[in-house]
Order: sequence, then structure tokens, then C-alpha cells
Amino acid sequence: MSAVSPSRVLVLNSGSSSVKYQLLDMSDNARLAVGLVERIGEETSRLKHTPLHGGGETREWNGPIADHEAALKAVSAELAKDGLGLDSPELAAIGHRVVHGGRHFTEPTVIDDAVLAEIERLIPVAPLHNPANLTGIRTAQALRPDLPQVAVFDTAFHTTMPESAARYAIDVKTADEHRIRRYGFHGTSHAYVSRATAELLGKDPSEVNVIVLHLGNGASASAVRGGRCVDTSMGLTPLEGLVMGTRSGDLDPAVIFHLARVGGMSTDEIDTLLNKKSGLIGLCGDNDMREIRRRVDEGDEQARLAFDIYIHHLKKYIGAYYAVLGTVDAVAFTAGVGENAAPVRQAAVAGLEQLGLAVDEELNAARGDRPRLISPESARVAVAVVPTDEELEIATQTYALVGKNN
Ligand code: ADP
Repeated sequence: MSAVSPSRVLVLNSGSSSVKYQLLDMSDNARLAVGLVERIGEETSRLKHTPLHGGGETREWNGPIADHEAALKAVSAELAKDGLGLDSPELAAIGHRVVHGGRHFTEPTVIDDAVLAEIERLIPVAPLHNPANLTGIRTAQALRPDLPQVAVFDTAFHTTMPESAARYAIDVKTADEHRIRRYGFHGTSHAYVSRATAELLGKDPSEVNVIVLHLGNGASASAVRGGRCVDTSMGLTPLEGLVMGTRSGDLDPAVIFHLARVGGMSTDEIDTLLNKKSGLIGLCGDNDMREIRRRVDEGDEQARLAFDIYIHHLKKYIGAYYAVLGTVDAVAFTAGVGENAAPVRQAAVAGLEQLGLAVDEELNAARGDRPRLISPESARVAVAVVPTDEELEIATQTYALVGKNN
């Protein structure tokens, strides 16, 4: 007979050489521990673990961690030191971030063999991410085969997009054969932030239209009508859309033919160029907005141009999604840049007063970790800063799915 009803959820975000994790208690949404393992498979792997209940100190461990199984065992050992090990009866489930769920997964899903097979089938459209996510799931299953494991998909929130937004204007047969369409990513964040924005306005999500600008190192915009996504800026892969830290965002696809034919570059070289060496880093050598702003303030022309290009594209998406939605109740900025970079927010809405958009200088400059409005009271459209919390959203969705069975 169990005295405690399990209320903890471990959230795992498994990359090809890293695992990020958070342990949350869903009875009060408290974070019990957070951490990450980096450089898995190298000699210089590192585990960083921070217990958040009981006031423990951050612990770091450096040394070789051969694979994901060893990484997860090391994480479990760290958690066990705080009395929070993976074998704890209080653990209700493990929630996994899965990047690509295709069209099939529209909701968080309890993982079974059929789900694993479908995530595997999607590898051709997510060659970097889905294999790593699968490794994380299989490793966690091996450690706790009795525990429900839930996949929360980055693409799920965007599956409500109408065909007019989701389809590329290319030959239908070819597109269908290769499952080429716009899937969108960062969906967990867009879902969380659009809901939190409605809450900030004191409204139900079904009553508001929101443009969400998720501006991290990767960046995407979404148009959310009454709680449902109707368009988003990332496409078949996270390369499309806004200018990002290292990704180009939108460009004429013929640039690729040109680089191949005239530049003599291979497909892999072009892939690396556009995903890893473009965007802000390609334009000015830095992808950290803090550094770019510092350079802009010192009069650096190259950084200024990179900033201006970033803002130009951001503004175009605000305009585009305004038109898609027809009426807009709020524009919400989130993620590392969106939450912290006041000059980006100011520049993105500058000159859009005709659309009812403006920011109040003082409110915009103020800092805080709670959702907050930065538009003047008189503004027709609310402009908000809404810190995202993808781990809490994954844990909430996971617990909602399995918690009721406990
Ligand atoms: P991701 O999850 O995509 O790696 P984040 O949402 O953590 O990204 O955002 C990381 C980015 O946020 C950094 O590359 C940096 O450009 C930006 N950033 C973080 N803090 C600040 C700050 N105080 N001012 C401006 N930009 C910031």
C-alpha cells in the first residue's frame, strides 16, 4: 500500500550529446532539481546538478560519460543524493521533449512501441533531433520500465494550422511523398506563452488573438487565434522564418542552387552554412544579443547592420501575423532575447502605432521574471513580456496525462 500519491515528474530533453533535466513536484509546480549533462561520449563530459529544495549547492562532475545510459545513471545518482532518485515511488512519470511529431501527434502521448516506431519513422524529417530523443526515451525506459513515459512534441501545438498555412506551394504529389510541409517548432513554448498571455490579460485563451515571438538562439513567431495556432514561422525544419543566432531564416531557395552550382558547395556544407554559420553569427561574428548590443552601443557598423536585419525580419512577421489574425489582442515576447533585450522589443514595434502597437520606455526597461505588460495603458494592443517555461509545460502535460491514473 502506497502512503504517498506520486506527484513528481522528471522532464528530459535529450540532445545528440547532451541531456537537460528538471524534476518537478506537480502538487505545487515546485522545481526540485535541475541539471544537465554535456559532451556525452567525449573525455570531457560534464554533469551539472542543482538541487532546489532543501537549499543544496550546485554540484559539478567532470570526466568521461560514455553514452546516454551512463548519463542518465549519473543523473539518477545525483538525484538520489538528494533523496530524489529515479527509483523513488513518488516519481509519477517521465516527460520527454520530442522535437518532431509530424502530423500524427497532435497531443502529448504515452509512449509505447507503436509511438516509438512512429517517432523513428519521422527521422528523415528530423535527422538531428529525433534519434537523440529516441535514445533518451529508450534509456529511461530501461531504467524504469514500470513507469509511464510521455512524449511531448515540439510540433503538436502547430498541428491546428490550416492547410493554407501548412502547405508549401510546390507539387502536391512530391510534397506528400516526402512529407514536405510546414510543421513548426517551439510549440510547447508557443502554447505556454499564448496561454500565459491570455491569463495576464484576465481572459480565457479562447477569447484572445496573440502573436508570440519566441526569440532565443533559435527563434520563431506564431499567430494564435483563440488558443489555436494558425501560422508559425518555422517550417519543415527550424531553418525557416526569423533571423536567428546561427540560422539564416527565410531566403530565396535558389540561393541553395547557386551555392551548389556556382559556389561548388556540397549539400552538407550548405546545410552547415545556413544552420550554423548564418543569422547573427554570419552577419557579425556574434550570436549573443548582449554582445551585439554592446558593439552597437560602441558604434560598430557590422553589429548595427546585423541588428537591423534581425529587426527588419521580426517586424515583417509581426505585420504578416497581424494580417493573418485580422485583430490582435497581444504581442508577447519570450525566450532569452525576447525576455531580456529591451532594445529588440522597442525596435520591433517602433513605427507600428497605426496598428495600435507601442511600448512604454520605462516599463520596457524594467526587469522581472513574471509576465508583464510593457505597452502604455492607452495602447489598443497589449505588448507583453512573458517568460517561457517549456519544462513546466512538459511536466504539466505529462502529469495531466498520467496523474489521473495514480
Ligand atoms: P535557446 O534555448 O534557443 O538556446 P535561450 O532562450 O536561452 O536560447 O536564449 C539564448 C539567447 O538569449 C542568447 O544567445 C542571447 O542572445 C540572449 N540573451 C540572454 N540573456 C540576454 C540579455 N540579458 N540581453 C540580451 N540577450 C540575452
